[in-house]
Amino acid sequence: MSCCFTPAHPSAAEIEPAAHYRRRRGNMAEAPPPGDRRFLIFFDFDETLVDETSDDMVVQAAPGGVLPGWLKDTYRPSRYNEYMQRVLAYLAEQGVTEPTIRSIVEQIPACPGIPALLRFLQSRPPRDFEVVCVSDANTFFIESWLTRAGFRPLFLRVFSNPAQFDRDGQLQMRPFHSHDCQRCPSNMCKAVVVREYIARRVRERGGRPYQRVFYVGDGANDFCPSLTLSPRDIAFPRRDFPMHRLIQEMAEAQPGKFRASVVSWASGEDVINTLRKVVEERG
Ligand SMILES: [Mg+2]
Ligand SMILES: [Zn+2]
Repeated sequence: MSCCFTPAHPSAAEIEPAAHYRRRRGNMAEAPPPGDRRFLIFFDFDETLVDETSDDMVVQAAPGGVLPGWLKDTYRPSRYNEYMQRVLAYLAEQGVTEPTIRSIVEQIPACPGIPALLRFLQSRPPRDFEVVCVSDANTFFIESWLTRAGFRPLFLRVFSNPAQFDRDGQLQMRPFHSHDCQRCPSNMCKAVVVREYIARRVRERGGRPYQRVFYVGDGANDFCPSLTLSPRDIAFPRRDFPMHRLIQEMAEAQPGKFRASVVSWASGEDVINTLRKVVEERG
């Protein structure tokens, strides 16, 4: 598989809180300190951090809580991003406002054990874990949820489809990038995001690689990035969700092709237990 990385709106899509950004930015110019053995952990958003698909939750705001049939009929496979743009336009036409959408998103429940997992990561010394979100939802939903939950400062980067409300009160969302991966939806290949991010950060770290990379996800579009992981790394697929099934299918059909270790999870506590061991092993 080859992918070409063409960021459509990199500055809008990679959002960092200003103070956090400046502080980190200052460190980036220098090589990491001796003994820096940082881990990198990626999180998907829908059905991973939150226990729902945020796009589906927002549809609650439509009149009667459902979308009209003519709108649903415009969905085309692998063109989901464009479909969602039409859904957001429809909601705006129906008078659904920013505070309503924000409040629905903020109230989406976290997945079991995810708040504990994020608190565990927060409790570690700052150079232990670099935490990144990569999601095919959109920046407005993710920023709203993470901020409300109090976990926004934990995330060094959020990679998602850039979205903001325009003057007419419509949430305008754009595709994250274009790529040529056949496996992924046209607006986002998370494998490209993960590879480009690691390459850039290793350069910024003076060539020093991460000790290990972790990827926590659930969906079919989390399978592609998990294929980029090395044998030292760990894929955390949500148990019995599509990412997990795809990994199992590959393990049966092509033994040895999937290189990373696999730890399935039903609760964030399962991930914590593995990370605790990994940190202890490192000493
Ligand atoms: Mg997901
Ligand atoms: Zn892909």
